[in-house]
Amino acid sequence: MSINYQEILDTICDEVQPLLSQGKVASYIPELSRISPLQFGMAVYCLDGRIFTAGDERKKFSTQSVSKLFALALAFKREGNAIWTRVGREPSGNPFNSLSQLEYEHGIPRNPFINAGALVINDILAARFVQADTALLQFIRVLADEPTLDFDRDVALSEQGTAHRNNAIAHLMKDFGNLFNPVATVIDSYCRQCAIAMNCVELAKAASFLANRGSIPWSGECILDASSTKRLNALMLTCGTYDAAGDFAYRVGLPAKSGVGGGIVAVVPGELALSVWSPGLDTNGNSLAGSMALERFTTLTTRSIF
Ligand code: GLN
Repeated sequence: MSINYQEILDTICDEVQPLLSQGKVASYIPELSRISPLQFGMAVYCLDGRIFTAGDERKKFSTQSVSKLFALALAFKREGNAIWTRVGREPSGNPFNSLSQLEYEHGIPRNPFINAGALVINDILAARFVQADTALLQFIRVLADEPTLDFDRDVALSEQGTAHRNNAIAHLMKDFGNLFNPVATVIDSYCRQCAIAMNCVELAKAASFLANRGSIPWSGECILDASSTKRLNALMLTCGTYDAAGDFAYRVGLPAKSGVGGGIVAVVPGELALSVWSPGLDTNGNSLAGSMALERFTTLTTRSIF
């Protein structure tokens, strides 16, 4: 069934305009604090190759924690179930950069999508590749079919200079024996990973293998087998939007991954991947207008996994 999503995207773009000024841009990373919240973009990538867009869909933004999805996919592809000895698969119910849970759970992060979990995934990649961050960038270039994707060096430097909490998390895990590489190596690589810049179309395309049982729709290249893909989507649903994952599943009903740059990517298995971007965040660090746009998309299209 070839649904034309254009009218729905245009409607959503109009509807979210009053919300753009209500969110707050991430201020703890100086380079992100300078971005205007009055921006919104959305893109749908259908598995048959059709693309629908609205708003600022070609404007690059900082993927931040959305990149954790691709880092996990790469680590899972390379290491398989071995990764689960070092990171859990449960929602954290805590802010994405919390330290307290990590202390009483002995340095094993709840899941790969909170900062602690992503640092462990980075550590795993660092043992596999000479340069974990460039290996990940190359992986995402293939997923998005966009060889020009790159790091935003200003954002990476900006975060490296203020990554006190992430340093604390990494040191705590090092003390518990759950980080093998030097803290500085992992933090540098993590900050560059978060600073990968993409636009909505690139992001939707990059996630489309997750809607296609693990294979890139246009090339057929197998990234993950169908079973692993199902599991990754399950993790997105339960852990992809931090401590708001329950509410997000209730409102949107799709596996999704968000980032403090204001991007969110979501998957309708068997049909499409879609992304939204709006830099104003809610109190959990998810894009405020972006979350509403996804809620409206699943409501207006009646597409969800439920
Ligand atoms: N780079 C950000 C951080 O480490 C990513 C957080 C996010 O997007 N939730 O804090």
